[in-house]
Amino acid sequence: MKLRLTTKRLVLAVFLILGLLVIRPVTFLIYTYIKDPKASKSLRSAVVNDASQLNRTKVDTVVKAHKEINRAITQISDLIKEANASGKKISIAGAQHSMGGHTIYPGGILLDMNSFNYMLLDSTADVLNVGSGALWNQIIPYLDQYGKSVAVMQSNNSFSVGGSISVNCHGWQPNSPPIASTVISLRLINAKGEVLSCSRTENKELFSLVLGGYGLFGVILDVKLRVTDNKIYKAEQFVVKSADYVREFEQWMEKNPTTGLAFGRININPDHFMEEAILSTYVVTDGPVQKLHQKNTFAAIRRTVFRGSANSEYGKNLRWKLEKSSVSLVDGKTFTRNELLNEGVEVFQNTNQNYTDILHEYFIPKAAVPEFIKALQSTIPKYRVDLLNITVRNVMTDKDSYLNYAHQEVFGFVMLFNQKRSKEAEADMQALTRKLITISISLNGAYYLPYRLHATKEQLLKAYPQASAFFELKRKYDPTEAFSNSFYKVYAN
Ligand SMILES: Cc1cc2nc3c(=O)[nH]c(=O)nc-3n(C[C@H](O)[C@H](O)[C@H](O)COP(=O)(O)OP(=O)(O)OC[C@H]3O[C@@H](n4cnc5c(N)ncnc54)[C@H](O)[C@@H]3O)c2cc1C
Repeated sequence: MKLRLTTKRLVLAVFLILGLLVIRPVTFLIYTYIKDPKASKSLRSAVVNDASQLNRTKVDTVVKAHKEINRAITQISDLIKEANASGKKISIAGAQHSMGGHTIYPGGILLDMNSFNYMLLDSTADVLNVGSGALWNQIIPYLDQYGKSVAVMQSNNSFSVGGSISVNCHGWQPNSPPIASTVISLRLINAKGEVLSCSRTENKELFSLVLGGYGLFGVILDVKLRVTDNKIYKAEQFVVKSADYVREFEQWMEKNPTTGLAFGRININPDHFMEEAILSTYVVTDGPVQKLHQKNTFAAIRRTVFRGSANSEYGKNLRWKLEKSSVSLVDGKTFTRNELLNEGVEVFQNTNQNYTDILHEYFIPKAAVPEFIKALQSTIPKYRVDLLNITVRNVMTDKDSYLNYAHQEVFGFVMLFNQKRSKEAEADMQALTRKLITISISLNGAYYLPYRLHATKEQLLKAYPQASAFFELKRKYDPTEAFSNSFYKVYAN
């Protein structure tokens, strides 16, 4: 009797121990599975587009990058290996504000990097370690907490780090080369699915190809980016003759070397078309730096005045008058650097379903700027296009990127057009773009590559004599052409 009781207890104890041994790990694993953020959500057979609204394309799959570093690495490496095996192409997307299908390959896999956006600041070294999907509108508020700001970026905050580096963007930072100059190093997942560190000393050639490389050499995983101090800037604006713009700009910079941001805007209203410009400058000044807050100064009024100039000569004349008279209102006002940089493209974006905003940019050596302005004055009115805006930015020589658009100090002319979404309007825009590229090339300048693919291949090779070698190196580093997009498809073959 006693023996039976002991055996029963023994069996029970064994079951209990076994139960504990099994139940604990099983519960733990179930809990871990539930808590674990699921890997990429893949969207099959999606229709995608970019900021042009003219690139609706069916792709095989959209894969969203994982948020966590190690999981993202495994996910992207596996994706590349699978693509190599199946022959499918991978295009890489940040915020998709490029306009020529640079993030899209028909029938391909679109890798969306947006959720890969971690940030870690080393404030003693002024270096931001950042996931390539992070947008400036996430980075600026993060840096603001530490009194820091982005060193070089576009004039708006809507773009991703990966996209900005892959086009080698530039902005209102005078006396500065494009963003490539602020990249200390980056990690790239190459065509074999391997993670490589690239910098000016490690994988040097690949580093220069990836800066301004349009996603053709691999996936930029994360970046060490040089940052700068967030300071107070005092605004001063001047109305100048457009023909004197470079002289006025240089005189200002000589007298005010602490100018942190500066740009020009040329009038596009038909009365005295392109004869005047407003030079806007922001000089470092003393005072306590306030924390960033959502301010959006008069955004609704500024938008209404701006959009009112679309398809309207009256609206264009009115806008220029208002912009000129607001010069005295802005003069002397102070802003933090982060406030000035933290504005999204949506403030002025076209929301009319029948139209879209199309950008062009031309990089002109400074000695040729007056001649370029003259050529624009006589050329643009001959075409059926609706020009809404021209800004002018100073860009210094770029010594870092392979597919370089600033071989010397240049002034970038950014033009914004309101374009009807029709075949005829697209043909008119193509004709104008080709003409303006020809003029730029004749002045030893170049055009910017992230916009519509209107340039002929011959024009691309003239504006970027290094393009053939760039495409050959692409095939050296990515022999199966796993990474591709519409830009590569049009110009590489
Ligand atoms: C309204 C507007 C204003 C603009 N203003 C400026 C300006 O002031 N200055 C300026 O220089 N440019 C300007 N641009 C152009 C802009 O800089 C580019 O379109 C830039 O690519 C936008 O970043 P994105 O994140 O949208 O890039 P995307 O369009 O998503 O990608 C651009 C390219 O980068 C590649 N890419 C993206 N992420 C990665 C990654 N992680 N790894 C590898 N490749 C990647 C893509 O494949 C693609 O080829 C403007 C564009 C618009 C629409």
